[in-house]
Amino acid sequence: MSRLQPARRVQMLSSAIFTEMARRKQEAARRLKVIDLGIGSPDTPPPPHLIEALTEAVQRPDVYGYPLSEGSPQFRQTVAEWYTYRFGVSLDPEREVHALMGSQDGLAHLALAWVNPEELVLVPDPGYPIYAGSVHLAGAELYPMPLRAENGYLPDLEAIPDEVRRRAKLMILNYPNNPVSAVAPLSFFEQVVHFARKHEIIVAHDLAYSEMAFDGYRPPSFLQVPGAKEIGIEFNSFSKSFNMAGCRVAYVVGSETIIQPLAQLKSNIDYGVFHAVQQMAAAALAADMTGAVPNQVSSLYQERRDVFLSSLNRIGWRIEPPKATMFVWAPVPAGWTSRQFAFHLLEKAGVVVIPGTAFGQEGEGYVRMALVQKTDELLEAVRRIEQSGVLGEAPPE
Ligand SMILES: *Cc1c(COP(=O)(O)O)cnc(C)c1O
Repeated sequence: MSRLQPARRVQMLSSAIFTEMARRKQEAARRLKVIDLGIGSPDTPPPPHLIEALTEAVQRPDVYGYPLSEGSPQFRQTVAEWYTYRFGVSLDPEREVHALMGSQDGLAHLALAWVNPEELVLVPDPGYPIYAGSVHLAGAELYPMPLRAENGYLPDLEAIPDEVRRRAKLMILNYPNNPVSAVAPLSFFEQVVHFARKHEIIVAHDLAYSEMAFDGYRPPSFLQVPGAKEIGIEFNSFSKSFNMAGCRVAYVVGSETIIQPLAQLKSNIDYGVFHAVQQMAAAALAADMTGAVPNQVSSLYQERRDVFLSSLNRIGWRIEPPKATMFVWAPVPAGWTSRQFAFHLLEKAGVVVIPGTAFGQEGEGYVRMALVQKTDELLEAVRRIEQSGVLGEAPPE
């Protein structure tokens, strides 16, 4: 058996912390009801008009054939129209829009389509795990760009060494950000476009949280920057914006030249998104444009954010309120590592959070909490944290 080991690229993908957290959660669940603020999976169904659109679509006999990998003409046209409506960005639906089976699909395959083993990919640290995962899949090298509080969680482009700039093929960005929930101003994207054009580096921006933002803030598209479309692509998804995570539908937009190899790779791997799901997704964007059904996602998570953070504040855990995303990036009490604190919190309070280091070395000192429970559950989590006394406990030796 020892000769039969999985491929190294698969071994590289295993995330020890997530696996260990899942195991400890199971153990804890034998003793008490665990409140899970771990994985960022929306707990709310899509709005009724979208469930109706899907129900109607599955009745049609013509939806059961192989879909086109690039997406139906109607899907791509609607995405292009929505980009104009939402961001003032114009896209050619035939060449600059491509459907994905979730943005995870696109992100996982992007490096495989573009990056050779001797080349580098610049990834945010902390970052959403598939960014590094895709680099491992491609057998390429990774250069972590630290995201630090003192820089507003934006990478310091000036700090990237010359040698790294030369070997870098691709840069991955994500604002509003998972896990740190920071947002980026358009002026930062302008700097990125300048940097990327100068050094001929492809930029892939993950805009998964474009519609989940608070206090009236509306996250911009990277493609709003003039010239961005020449070196950049953007991923967007229905999973968070419309509570459609299980439907597996998303898209990539931007440079035709950059999308094309990804499209070619994918056309060999999958045959596209189920037609009925594409119709549901198009219905989501269409209704959003008419304003007939206002999107409730922001108000849902804004209320949870406010309830959760004000009660945590009351028990002495002070956390900067995020402007967007479903995540709270919380500093751990002094002296604890992220791992120690997360496991201790589970043990003593039965609350699952993810240690910051699950997202990269720079995540040390923080835990990520996902607002994927109703407000009464969030309040119960705070009550348990208070009763457990973990916030005031001395760190382990
Ligand atoms: C949830 C999430 C995704 C995955 O989206 P899918 O479209 O469901 O694959 C991608 N990027 C980030 C940052 C996410 O948080």
